[in-house]
Amino acid sequence: RHPTAPSIMNGHFAGIGESANPADFEHGVQIVDQEKNFNENLGQYLQLEGIIRAGFNYHIISVFGSQSTGKSTLLNYLFGTQFGVMSEQERRQTTKGIWMSKNKKENAAGEKSMAENILVMDVEGTDGRERGEDQDFERKSALFALATSEVLIVNIWEHQVGLYQGANMGLLKTVFEVNLQLFLKNAKNVTRSLLFFVIRDHLGTTPLSNLKQTLIQDLQRIWGGLSKPPGLEKSQIEDYFDFGFVALPHKILQPEKFEQEVRNLGTRFREGYKNPKTAGLIDEQSEPILLSEYHRRIPADGFPMYARGVWEQIDSNKDLDLPTQQELLAQFRCDEIMKEVLVPFDEIIAPLEEQQAQGVAAGKPSIIAKLGKVMAGARSVLLASFEEEASRYHKGVYKRKQTELEGKVDGRLKTLFQGQMTAAHKSGLNDFSEAVTTAVKAGQKKGSNYDFHKIVSSEKDKALKRFESEAQTSLVTGTPWSDYKSQLNLFRKELDEVSGRLRKEEMRRLANRSERWVRSKLDESVGLEFNKLGSGRGGSGAPAEGQKPASERDLWDRIWNVFTDTVSHAESRFTERARSFDASPDEVEVGLWRLRRKSWGALRGKIDEEMMEGNLLLKLRENFEDKFRYDDEGVPRIWRPTDDIEGLYTRARESTLEVIPLLSRFKLAGTSSPPPLDAWIGEAPSNVTSADEEDLQPIGGVDEDEAKSLEEEMTILSDAKAQDLSTRFKKTADGVYIEAKRSAIGGMTQ
Ligand code: GDP
Ligand code: MG
Repeated sequence: RHPTAPSIMNGHFAGIGESANPADFEHGVQIVDQEKNFNENLGQYLQLEGIIRAGFNYHIISVFGSQSTGKSTLLNYLFGTQFGVMSEQERRQTTKGIWMSKNKKENAAGEKSMAENILVMDVEGTDGRERGEDQDFERKSALFALATSEVLIVNIWEHQVGLYQGANMGLLKTVFEVNLQLFLKNAKNVTRSLLFFVIRDHLGTTPLSNLKQTLIQDLQRIWGGLSKPPGLEKSQIEDYFDFGFVALPHKILQPEKFEQEVRNLGTRFREGYKNPKTAGLIDEQSEPILLSEYHRRIPADGFPMYARGVWEQIDSNKDLDLPTQQELLAQFRCDEIMKEVLVPFDEIIAPLEEQQAQGVAAGKPSIIAKLGKVMAGARSVLLASFEEEASRYHKGVYKRKQTELEGKVDGRLKTLFQGQMTAAHKSGLNDFSEAVTTAVKAGQKKGSNYDFHKIVSSEKDKALKRFESEAQTSLVTGTPWSDYKSQLNLFRKELDEVSGRLRKEEMRRLANRSERWVRSKLDESVGLEFNKLGSGRGGSGAPAEGQKPASERDLWDRIWNVFTDTVSHAESRFTERARSFDASPDEVEVGLWRLRRKSWGALRGKIDEEMMEGNLLLKLRENFEDKFRYDDEGVPRIWRPTDDIEGLYTRARESTLEVIPLLSRFKLAGTSSPPPLDAWIGEAPSNVTSADEEDLQPIGGVDEDEAKSLEEEMTILSDAKAQDLSTRFKKTADGVYIEAKRSAIGGMTQ
């Protein structure tokens, strides 16, 4: 028994209300009333008596016979039931329709105790004293009893035995006829029954064996007289029935003997198997009569519905089709059981479905812990409960419904599983890119020498492992839908895409670092070159008369060289680093192209900074003063009135003024032309994207659609600016000259 099964089957199905009141069933339950209506309370009654969950562990027995032959009395003695009996005074028929009650004596102690869950049907008497010649009910109730009962007790007075024309014989004829009718339609489904004759008021003068012989002869005569349907002409009565006989003493004349014999009879309502020696004739006075082959195999929880279906077919005079009834019952019950087993399943699974749906709606699918274990548990409990309850029904229907249930449940579990995989996928990608970013940041803190490639590949490994283990704890082993290969492949693919994106970011970082490095190098080295302007004598000795000092004349050459050297150094470091994390040649090419452009921008910025008016004026003044106030040996002049102050002043001023046009254009000394910036930057690589170009400044002479020419790009000072600068410089120089003049005169007067 499955541990959870009992709690599932609380009988929430048709015909069983929640509130069965024992008082309503004092005399058992009237299954069919005198108007031939089926009573819907049968299920409630079986529930109340604790039989509904008995499976096949129950028995149905009916009693037949003329009215007022003590049938109900016998049953009450035998089974402790409380069927209504006729009072001695009234002599009116009491039992109407068909009643059923559970055996109340099953717990009576004794060596040969009765079988569990015997249900006894008390059928309205049939000699029609009050119903007139109502053969209709007689036939119907006989058919109903045959279709449902394992044992049919035929109750008969001893003095009626041998009265072939008596009411009892009419009843037996009916029983045989309806049995043939039933058999014709349901050959494979008709189960043998026991016709158990109880002979009442047995005086003892005629031994039971003689009575038995008489009865058997009568039965065979009845059988012989029946017109049998084609194919069954030669059939024997024994083909359909087993027979048993028992005699009881007179209840009123021999009350103690009567009760004693009834007790003996009670012990025979035990389960047993057919004794091959007495096959077909249950003869022994002590043999069990509830043989397993008589059982109708209708599960107890399906019996109310089955009984109703059978009765309705009988009552509407349709041919009773038991296989169809059993299939209908199986379909109905399997559907009900399906609903029932889905209740505890839903209690576990529905909240998870809800949780998942909410996560999806909120845009952040959550991972459900131990999903696989929970699903496997709910699933196996469900299938086991279903099997336990439903497999008792029609096999074909059961199998079909089992497949249907499995499909239904697995559809939902599969959805959950796939949702879980989607969540694992999303969070896996997130975690991966976060982990890479964090590791890169840590690497950057320690210096920029971290191994990006290694970070990515180790985080990718971790992400894949995490994904796989999440899949493993989310699936249900043995189900066809628990396959995550394609999800894993998709995850791997998207990890690669994210890696690509992260690599691009890393490229960007590398590019930024390279640019910063170039900028700071240029700051230093270009600054140095401009500072040299402050010294009018350049690097090596004094310039010859009329010649510009070397430091001024090839300023741009040196700047260009230092620039291209710096960038080339940065380029090779960039390439090496980018290759280390598998950047593609294309990506490297674009990166270098961007680096060159950005570097040019940096240089241009640095030059502009140096060329700011104040800076430049200061440099020119220094340049001039150097030429004017120091002699060729670099010794400061002490002005004397005899000195050619004016001549020195003019030469120095002119020499410095010549620097201005030189500074105004970025030109190489050798060619007197701008440096080959366009060639140096090169064509834009074919795979440049607009994102790559987004933050780039246009460069004159390099970018074709740019209005600016290379000349213009290389124009450092406009003519107007140069003019203005000359004027202002001259004023400064004049000031220096006057000061020199004054100091020469001052020196003399002292
Ligand atoms: P039913 O119509 O067959 O169910 O008969 P009842 O059980 O209602 O009994 C009808 C009458 O027969 C009642 O008055 C009983 O007291 C009486 N009766 C019951 N059992 C016996 C019996 O074994 N012998 C005799 N002679 N009368 C009985
Ligand atoms: Mg009765």
